[in-house]
Amino acid sequence: MNRLDGKVCVVTGAASGIGKRIAEVYAQAGGKVVIADLKLDAAEATATEIRNAGGDALAVAMDVTDEAQVVDGIAKAVAHYGQVDVLVSNAGIQIVNKITDFSYADWKKMLAIHLDGAFLTTRECLRDMETRKTGGAIIYMGSVHSHAASKLKAPYVTAKHGLLGLARTVAKEAAAYGVRANVICPGFVRTPLVDKQIPEQAKELGISEDEVIQNVMLKDTVDGEFTTVDDVANVALMLAAFETNALTGQSLVVSHGWYMQ
Ligand code: NAD
Repeated sequence: MNRLDGKVCVVTGAASGIGKRIAEVYAQAGGKVVIADLKLDAAEATATEIRNAGGDALAVAMDVTDEAQVVDGIAKAVAHYGQVDVLVSNAGIQIVNKITDFSYADWKKMLAIHLDGAFLTTRECLRDMETRKTGGAIIYMGSVHSHAASKLKAPYVTAKHGLLGLARTVAKEAAAYGVRANVICPGFVRTPLVDKQIPEQAKELGISEDEVIQNVMLKDTVDGEFTTVDDVANVALMLAAFETNALTGQSLVVSHGWYMQ
C-alpha cells in the first residue's frame, strides 16, 4: 500500500469535496495534513473529523488568491510540522457562461483562483522544499478540461490547460531537489461544485437537469458513471507516495474514459 508516514501534506480547498477526501486518505496513509481553505470553520470541522479518526491535521485559513494569506498559511504549516513534503493545489470554483456574456471580473476571478493560487502555493512550498532538499510532490487538480473544451467554460478550460504548463515547468526546475509535479484530471465528480452547475447548465442550454447529467456530463464516458472522490483521492495518494522522478510532468486522466490520452 502507498504510505505517507510522517509526510506533511498541504491540501488547498480541503474543507469540501475532492480536497476533503484527499486529506482524509492522506491522513489514513500516515500523512500529517494541513487543511487550507477559504472557509476556516469548515476547514476546522474537517481537521477535527480527521483527528477524531486518529489522524493528524491542522486547519489553516487561506484564500489562495491572496499572496499574504498564502505566505502566512504555508509558514504556519512549516512552524507547526517543521516542513512541507506534499502540496495538492486543489482549491477551485466554477462559473459557467457564454463568452459573450462573461464579465471581465468573473474571468479574472476564475484565473486568479485556479492559476494565481497554484503559482502562489507552489512558490511557497517549493521555497521550503528547495531549502531542505528532502524531495517532495506537487499535485495540481486539473480536469478533463485540461485537455478538452466544453461550451460555457472558457476561463475554467483556459486555467485547467494552464496548469499543465505550470506542472511541466515545476517538474523541470524542481527535479534538482527531488520534487515531482503532476496533474490529476478528473471527469465529473458529484461535489458541491458540480451540483451547482447542473441547474445552471440546464437553464443556459434550455434542457432538463437529467439531460445535463446524461447528455452533457456523462455522455462520453465508457459506462455513464460519475468519477468519485475516492477515485481521485486514490490517484492523489499514488502520486504523493511515488518515490522517484520517473513519474513527473505528467497528467493522469481519471474520468471513466470520457477523455483518453
Ligand atoms: P468543492 O466546491 O466541493 O470544494 C472546493 C473547495 O475550495 C471549497 O472548500 C472552497 O471553500 C475552497 N475554495 C474556493 N475558493 C477558494 C480560495 N480562493 N482559496 C481557498 N480555498 C478556496 O469543489 P470540488 O469539486 O471538490 O473541486 C475541487 C477541485 O477539483 C477544483 O479545482 C475543481 O476545478 C476540480 N475538479 C472538480 C471536478 C468535479 O467534477 N467536481 C472535476 C474536475 C476537476
